[in-house]
Amino acid sequence: MADSLAVVWRSAAVRGRQYHGAVIADAAGRLRLSVLGCSSAVPHPAAPAAGFLVEWADTAVLLDVGQGVIRRLQAIRDPRELAGVVVGHMHADHFLDLAGLRYTYPWGEAAAVPLPLHLPPGGAARLDALAEAISERPGFFDVAYDIDEYDPDVPLAIGPLTVTFRRGRHYIPAWAMAIESPDGARLVYTGDTGPSDAMVDFARDADLLLVEAGLRDERDDDPERGHLTAPEAIDLAVRAGARETLLVHYAPDRRAEIELLCEGSPAVIRPAVAGLVRTVQPAAAVVAPSG
Ligand SMILES: [Zn+2]
Ligand SMILES: [Zn+2]
Repeated sequence: MADSLAVVWRSAAVRGRQYHGAVIADAAGRLRLSVLGCSSAVPHPAAPAAGFLVEWADTAVLLDVGQGVIRRLQAIRDPRELAGVVVGHMHADHFLDLAGLRYTYPWGEAAAVPLPLHLPPGGAARLDALAEAISERPGFFDVAYDIDEYDPDVPLAIGPLTVTFRRGRHYIPAWAMAIESPDGARLVYTGDTGPSDAMVDFARDADLLLVEAGLRDERDDDPERGHLTAPEAIDLAVRAGARETLLVHYAPDRRAEIELLCEGSPAVIRPAVAGLVRTVQPAAAVVAPSG
């Protein structure tokens, strides 16, 4: 065990990261993903829409806030303790539960600790429109959330975590996100996208990759494409060389069919389910078997 830890520490040191070896060796300190929801926009009793909790020590970040996600998150931790919420695009199944979350804050006065909310370009106006649509006053969200629109070309720091973006191929502007922890672990989430070489590049060598598999059939999509079939999602993961992949954004009744497709793939891949928790080891920290 001691030898393994030493190798882990040395591997990390080679990468030039500045952190204490013990942090890496502690399983509780690694980057951790909790799948809160990974269904499509169609409601399902056991499967919220998109929502992924990423934690590093005390820092918790929520990627996407689809319908049903906040109720699921509340079972794990208080959403108001999040270090940040990052929304990839402004479709209902990725941001609509921001309305539900807002009601956990005082209605009339400013929140004592506003929740940092990172929206894509143009997202703040969409949120203002949502306040009006649900018959709330102007600025309804502004007193609870510390809202900024990220520049997708600039890395976003949230505590010790760094988020970078890549535009997906979708019906509206939509961004994939990569989140990197201090030990070099890299989790990539495609968000909604059609087939895209740029997305394969972005997902290259991800330690954990979440790929959308929203389509039953390619013929259900626009000719311009905006989602992936499961075989297309698997192909993306294989081409990217991701170390482990979870398929997300699929209707729960397709799970068995998607599992079968995954079993026939050379990739380490399977469909995600709500409630799944994975820790993410950086490639450099994986100890090769000796002998
Ligand atoms: Zn979408
Ligand atoms: Zn979606």
